[in-house]
Amino acid sequence: MATTRKPLEKYRRIVIKIGSALLVDRKSGLKRAWLNAMCADIAALRAKGVDVLVVSSGAIALGRSVLDLAPGVLKLEESQAAAAVGQIALARAWSESLSTGEIVAGQILLTLGDTEERRRYLNARATINQLLKMGAVPIINENDTVATTEIRYGDNDRLAARVATMTGADLLVLLSDIDGLYTAPPHLDPDARFLETIAEITPEIEAMAGGAASELSRGGMRTKIDAGKIATGAGCAMIIASGKADHPLSAIGAGARSSWFAPSRSPVTARKTWIAGQLLPAGNLIIDAGAETALRSGKSLLPAGVRQVTGSFSRGDTIAIIGAEGREVARGLAGYDADEARQIAGKKSAEIAVILGYAGRAAMVHRDDMVMTAPAKRDMDAARSDAHA
Ligand code: GLU
Repeated sequence: MATTRKPLEKYRRIVIKIGSALLVDRKSGLKRAWLNAMCADIAALRAKGVDVLVVSSGAIALGRSVLDLAPGVLKLEESQAAAAVGQIALARAWSESLSTGEIVAGQILLTLGDTEERRRYLNARATINQLLKMGAVPIINENDTVATTEIRYGDNDRLAARVATMTGADLLVLLSDIDGLYTAPPHLDPDARFLETIAEITPEIEAMAGGAASELSRGGMRTKIDAGKIATGAGCAMIIASGKADHPLSAIGAGARSSWFAPSRSPVTARKTWIAGQLLPAGNLIIDAGAETALRSGKSLLPAGVRQVTGSFSRGDTIAIIGAEGREVARGLAGYDADEARQIAGKKSAEIAVILGYAGRAAMVHRDDMVMTAPAKRDMDAARSDAHA
C-alpha cells in the first residue's frame, strides 16, 4: 500500500499515544495548557466524525509530583504506588480538559495480557467500542499497579499499537519529544538523515532504531518501531511526531515534520486474513438457509438462524459456520461459549436474557469477526456452467 500522507480527518479511527514528558513537568506537575490545547485538537477531529482513542502515559510522573518524591530511580512498588496516585490525577485532568469541548472521558486500564488473551481482549474491545458509540473518548493506560514486571517507559508504545489493532483503528499517532525516525541518532551523527515516509519496516529500518541498550540515545525508537510492526502488520498506518509544541495534531495536519509508516494492508483485511488462517476451528455452527443469505449480504449471525452447535469452544475461539447444505460458508470468532450457544440456538434475540439470565450480545458471531470462506452455491454453479460454455 502506498505511503500517502493525508489529512488526519480522512482517517476513521485514530489512536493517539502521549508520552509522559509531554504531559508532566518535573517541577510544576501537570502541563494544563498543553493538555487543553490537545483536547481542542481532539474535539476538532471528533467534530469531523473521527473516532479518537487516547493512550496516555504520565501516571507515574504525575504521582511523583503529587507525592513530591525525590528525583532518582524508583523501586517497582514505589512506581506502582506513584502510578496509583498519579492515575487518579491523570484521569481527572483528561476528564476536565475534554469536558470544555463537551466530550466525556472514559478510563480504561489494561495490562498487555488483556490485549493478548482472547476472552479479556474481546471484553476490552467491546467496552471500548461501546464508549466510542456513546460518544466518549477512551483514555487508556497500562494498569501499572498490577503489573508484575518492571514498568518501563516505552511500554505504552506497544500497548497503543495493540489497542489500535484490537479496535481496528486505521491510524496510530505516537507523540513524544522526538519528531520522527532518523537514519542514526541525530545528536550523535551529523550525517543522520530524517525519514519522512517508511513504506515497510525492513531489517535496515529496525537497525536504525538500535537495540534496547541504546534506547535512551535513540529517543525510545526501539519500542516505537516495535509498535510500528504491530500496527502496520494489522493494517494501521503510524506516525511518529513531536508533541512538544501546543496543538501537535493540528501541526501534523498543517504538515509539521513527522515520520509516516505505511500499513501493509487494510485493518479489516488483516483481521479477516487472521481469522481465515486459523487451522482448526474449535466447533461448528450449523445455520439455516435464511441465515446463510443474511451472512452473504454482510450481516452478523444471530442465534435465531443457528440450527445446531457442535464441539466445545469458548467465547473468542474460532468456529466454522456450516450452511444448510453441509458446506462451510464462513469462519468467525464465537460470541458465546458452546454451552450457551446450544441453549440459545434457534431462539429470538429477545429471549436470550430469559434463557441465560443475563442480557447477552445480540450476535452469535459478529460480522466484524467473520470471514466468508466459500462462495454461494449459485455462484459456484454459475462458474461451473461458465467453464463448460
Ligand atoms: N504507564 C506508565 C505511566 O503512565 C508509562 C509507560 C510508558 O510511558 O510507556 O506512567
